[in-house]
Amino acid sequence: MFITFEGIEGSGKTTQIRRVSEFLRGAGHSLISTREPGSTDIGAKIRAILLDPANKSLDHRAELLLYMADRAHHIGTVVRPALSDGQLVLCDRYFDATLAYQGYARGLDIGLLRDLHRLVLDDFMPHLTLLLDLPAETGLSRAWKQIASGAREDAETRFEKEKLAFHERVRAGYLDLARQAPERFRIIDALQKEDQVRAEIVQIISERLKR
Ligand code: ATP
Ligand code: C5P
Ligand code: MG
Repeated sequence: MFITFEGIEGSGKTTQIRRVSEFLRGAGHSLISTREPGSTDIGAKIRAILLDPANKSLDHRAELLLYMADRAHHIGTVVRPALSDGQLVLCDRYFDATLAYQGYARGLDIGLLRDLHRLVLDDFMPHLTLLLDLPAETGLSRAWKQIASGAREDAETRFEKEKLAFHERVRAGYLDLARQAPERFRIIDALQKEDQVRAEIVQIISERLKR
């Protein structure tokens, strides 16, 4: 089963993937946790281009194609092989992030994004998507605190320079996507305490695994 974690910056995706993975492994499940962009050697180079603040002028379509190149390589070399092997795959961001960021927030045509996803990824979609939802202001303040404490891997990125309104459009985009595909999405209140969020996610995944 391919499970994706989505949500704005600071919503807790990386924290929860780590905690949920630990729990599921402890319960005997075979799984990998991975992320986009940047999970492979080639993907790490693409991530570096995408997040470099010096590349602020990166053309929006060029940016889109870099995300898709990272994804094609990641799905082909990491995700599909793990799924074929019978493993659970937990992935930090996927195509919904492209729709929310490059589509809803940047304004690229959603139809174009879906066409490209069909062409490049054969429309490969997750079985389950966990959307960690919270106000953009709260998510950004968590991310900034992480930067201030030196705990963040990408200390300065192009995206943290975006205005609050940009992140509000990302959030609204995600919520719209979840409304359009209620059978795939579960919306989780990311304002809850870490333990509560983890417990809710573990329960959702455990129920799905029983089906
Ligand atoms: P990004 O999209 O920027 O990678 P993220 O969604 O992966 O963000 P995390 O890195 O998991 O978010 O969390 C951001 C910060 O918020 C971290 O400092 C983390 O410890 C903290 N955090 C995570 N979950 C919660 C929570 N439920 N309550 C309060 N703080 C939290
Ligand atoms: O979640 P992570 O920190 O790995 O994401 C890296 C950055 O890439 C984030 O700041 C996010 O805003 C941005 N991003 C994006 N479009 C995507 C995926 C991520 O703008 N499709
Ligand atoms: Mg993260």
